[in-house]
Amino acid sequence: MLNIKHSWAHILQNIVGPTHPSFRQLLRLIVPFGRSPSIRRHAASVIMARVQLICFLFAWLVPLCAVVDWWVFDAVEATKLTILRFIAGGIFAMLAWPRNLPPRRPYRRAMWMLFCMLLVPSLFYLGVLQAVDTARLTEEQRLVVQLYALMPTIVLGGLAIFPLSALEILLLSLPALATAIAGLQLSDHVLSWTQHGAALWFMCMMTGVSMFSGMSQSHYMESLVHQATTDPLTGALTRRSGVETLERLFLLAEQTNAPLALAFFDIDHFKAINDQFGHDAGDQALRSLVAELKKYLRRGDALVRWGGEEFVVVLPDMAVSQLPIFLGRIQAGGLGHRLDGRALEASVGIAERRADGAGDWTSLVELADHRMYQAKHEGRSCIVMPDHSVVKLTMVSRQDLTSQARKS
Ligand code: GH3
Ligand code: MG
Ligand code: MG
Repeated sequence: MLNIKHSWAHILQNIVGPTHPSFRQLLRLIVPFGRSPSIRRHAASVIMARVQLICFLFAWLVPLCAVVDWWVFDAVEATKLTILRFIAGGIFAMLAWPRNLPPRRPYRRAMWMLFCMLLVPSLFYLGVLQAVDTARLTEEQRLVVQLYALMPTIVLGGLAIFPLSALEILLLSLPALATAIAGLQLSDHVLSWTQHGAALWFMCMMTGVSMFSGMSQSHYMESLVHQATTDPLTGALTRRSGVETLERLFLLAEQTNAPLALAFFDIDHFKAINDQFGHDAGDQALRSLVAELKKYLRRGDALVRWGGEEFVVVLPDMAVSQLPIFLGRIQAGGLGHRLDGRALEASVGIAERRADGAGDWTSLVELADHRMYQAKHEGRSCIVMPDHSVVKLTMVSRQDLTSQARKS
C-alpha cells in the first residue's frame, strides 16, 4: 500500500509537474473551471504565442507544398489544390499577424484563435477530397491523398503542446475527429475499412496522449507561475506581479469607467514583534495577517506584499459607497494575531480611482500610501478614507475571541 502511494507521488512529481497537485488542482487539470485570473492570463499568452508561431510557419509551408500537387496531379486538380493551399495559407497568415491579448477576456481570445487554427487543416483535407476524383487515382496520387488524410491526426497530436485541461482538449479534438470520419466516408476508394478502423483507433490514442500532455503542461505552468508571482513567506502576490495586476486592473477600470479601490496596510509596531519575540514570530504575524485578509477578498481582488510589513489590496468595481462592506469584514474578523495571541493592528489608507480622480495606478498607490501615513499620525489602528474621514479599528485578542465564542 505504502509502495503504491510512493509510486503515485513519484509519477505526479516527475511526470505531471514539479509540485504535487492537490485534489482541487487535479480537478482543474481535468475541467477548465476555477483557475485564477492570473493563471488564465498566463495560459492565454502561452497559447496565443504558440498559435502564432505555428501559423507563421504554416503560412509559408502550406502554399510552398503546392509543388507536390503540380508534380503528382493533372493541371485542373493541381490548380484547385493550389487555390485551397493559398486560402489556408492566408488564414494562417491572418492568425499569425502580431497582436496583443485584450485586457478583458484574454483566454477566450486565445482559445478562439487556437480553435480557428485547428479547423484549417481539417477543412483543407475535406476540400482536397472534393477537389480530387478519388475513384480514378494513380498509385502516386493515392499516396499523396493518404498523406492529406493524416492532417486531422496531426492536429490532434499538435494539441499536445498547449497547456489545456483534458476536457478542453477533448472538445477541441472533436472537429478533427468528425472531419476524419467524414473524410473516411468520402475517400472510401482510397482507404479500406481496416485502414479506416486503424486510423480512427490511432486518432483516439493521439487524443488521449494530448490530453495527458496538456494536463501535465497546465500543471507545470501553474506551478511555475505560482512560484514566480507569489511571495513564498505569505502567499500574497509579489510586488512585481502585483504591479502588473494593478496596471491591468487600472486599465480595465479606465476603459469601462468602473470604480477601483486600493487599500494600503502597514502593520503597527511590527518591529517590536521582531525585537520582543524574534524574527520567526514576525514571520508568523505576516502570515497571520495575509491569511486573514484573504478571507475578506472576492475572486477578482488582489493582495500584494508591497514591502516588508506593507500590503496593498486591490479591489476592482468597489465604489466608495461599497467600502463599508469591506471595512465591516475587517472590523468583525480582525487582522490576525501575534504568537502571544494579541491582535495585530494596522494603519490603513484607502484611495479610489473615480472619487480621487486618479489618472494612473501610481497616483492611486501614492494617495493610499499618503493616507496610511495620516492614519499613523491619527494614533494608528485606523483607516483614512478617500474623504479623509478616520475610521477607528478595534481588534480583539485571540483570548478574548475564544471567551466570546464560549459565552455565545
Ligand atoms: P510603524 O507602526 O510606524 O509602522 O512601526 P513599525 O515597527 O511597524 O515599522 P518599521 O518600518 O520601523 O519596521 C518594519 C520592520 O519590518 C523592519 C524590518 O526588520 C521588519 N521586516 C521586514 N520584512 C520582514 C520579514 O519578512 N520578516 C520579519 N520578521 N520582519 C520583517
Ligand atoms: Mg512600514
Ligand atoms: Mg509598520
